[in-house]
Amino acid sequence: MYLTAGLHRSLQRHPDKIALVDGHCRLSFGQLHARVARLAAALQQLGVQPGDRIAVLAHNSARYVETTLAVWWCGATLNPVNTRWSLAEITYALNDCAARVLLVDDAFTTLAHDVVPPVASLCATVHLGHAPTPEGLHSYEALIDAATPVEDARPSADALAAILYTGGTTGFPKGVMLSHHNFWSSSVGRTAEVPNPSDFVTLLIAPLFHVAGLGRLIGQLIVGGTCVTLPAFRPDTVLHTIQEEGITDMVMVPSMVQMLLDTPTFGQHDLSSLRRILWGAAPMALPLLERALAALPHVEFIHAYGMTETAASVSVHRIGQAPEERRGECIRSAGRAGYATEIRVADPEGREVPTGDAGEILVRGPVVMVGYWGRPEETAQALHGGWLHTGDGGYMDAQGRLYVVDRLKDMIISGGENVYPAEVEEALGRHPAVATCAVIGVPSAKWGEAVHAVVVLREGAEATAEELRAHCRTRLGGYKCPESIEFRHSLPLSAAGKVLKSELRKSCGSAA
Ligand code: ATP
Ligand code: MG
Repeated sequence: MYLTAGLHRSLQRHPDKIALVDGHCRLSFGQLHARVARLAAALQQLGVQPGDRIAVLAHNSARYVETTLAVWWCGATLNPVNTRWSLAEITYALNDCAARVLLVDDAFTTLAHDVVPPVASLCATVHLGHAPTPEGLHSYEALIDAATPVEDARPSADALAAILYTGGTTGFPKGVMLSHHNFWSSSVGRTAEVPNPSDFVTLLIAPLFHVAGLGRLIGQLIVGGTCVTLPAFRPDTVLHTIQEEGITDMVMVPSMVQMLLDTPTFGQHDLSSLRRILWGAAPMALPLLERALAALPHVEFIHAYGMTETAASVSVHRIGQAPEERRGECIRSAGRAGYATEIRVADPEGREVPTGDAGEILVRGPVVMVGYWGRPEETAQALHGGWLHTGDGGYMDAQGRLYVVDRLKDMIISGGENVYPAEVEEALGRHPAVATCAVIGVPSAKWGEAVHAVVVLREGAEATAEELRAHCRTRLGGYKCPESIEFRHSLPLSAAGKVLKSELRKSCGSAA
């Protein structure tokens, strides 16, 4: 199984159907197929061999999608680079996976000049932007124009399709090796669970360097659906694009959902084409979910749980339009194990815990990564006993529905009691003055760790720390209530939109 198969299928079935929309550029499947065959030839002329790593440092675009397909067409491995990384992080990742070619868009041409010299493995840098190509870089369009199409290498199922670096939420990012088989199992398994009609027009808004973005692209390629790309998440542009392009679905993280709902013009757009919003990557506090469900009553919401190491989601929970689906305890659930997965909740020895008890979420099946690139010890640790140890805490109900509680690393042990920050964040989030918040453990002489909250208030709203603590006391056991609360204008977010608790811990270490 190889991930370009869908492109060949679409060429036969509907060559004139639109595959990609990027601003004014519209590409049919026939055009896409032809361009990919030439770009692959160009990459080979630059020296790319099967198995080589090809790095892309760019915002989502049609050319990013073409490049992804051309890399697979050569039998090479895609290395999508996080666009929010610093120069040091980019150089680290490119050296770590010994990238052969780097492709950059306009936003990163200047950075490329600094990245290239310290990465000895690079043999070429390609400019895939629309501005004039700077000296020393190859022009993307000139390469395509000069190339003669080559045959698809159709790599084997266990060939590496991508090395994706983890979000870096809990530590230094690790390169996750994902095979064509991993991605295929994940996408086909999800399609079996959540039908993906080929007339869907998806807005690729989750970044392609993240497994959620890449996973959605692969889903659309398999069924021959249309993808619309936007370079960045700007709520106004997203709303406008939904209306203009008749967007049916998108994959988002909770902070994007919040930004969309908070946009003053939210109610002024026609969003009737939208059928589905899939969210995941971080917990969504219940008040935000309830707000989203109320604001978009015609949209099916799908809660997905997964990680880079599992080539996207391992469980999904569909929240349909029926009122009973939109309330009650089970709307918190991350759903049941998908077709290509087994999920178990285990104690530290790896033994399954009784239903309802919390433990570590373990995952098994064809979606589980090959391993971490160049890190045999971390791989062995993560995959020991035949299961992927996710580092996430959760529990399972009697119907096999999974509830993700929080990252085990983020769990606060205060006075011997376990406190899951997500629960405290949710209670705080219910206060009308709170826009967003993050809860962490800080060292405390008295409790070992103390619960500390960092709160961003809504514009124009006011609340004191004491008021918020009193609000929490009506909803949470005393030991879960924040010992200390600090107010900020914003929270540090990762490129994927997750709160960087490691950053907060650094800056709040002495706050309590
Ligand atoms: P790193 O591994 O480098 O610290 P990361 O774990 O954030 O970064 P990803 O692979 O992008 O990198 O994220 C996967 C993690 O995101 C999961 O392990 C889990 O902690 C969290 N997550 C994913 N989906 C959900 C969800 N639906 N609810 C709560 N948390 C989620
Ligand atoms: Mg992780």
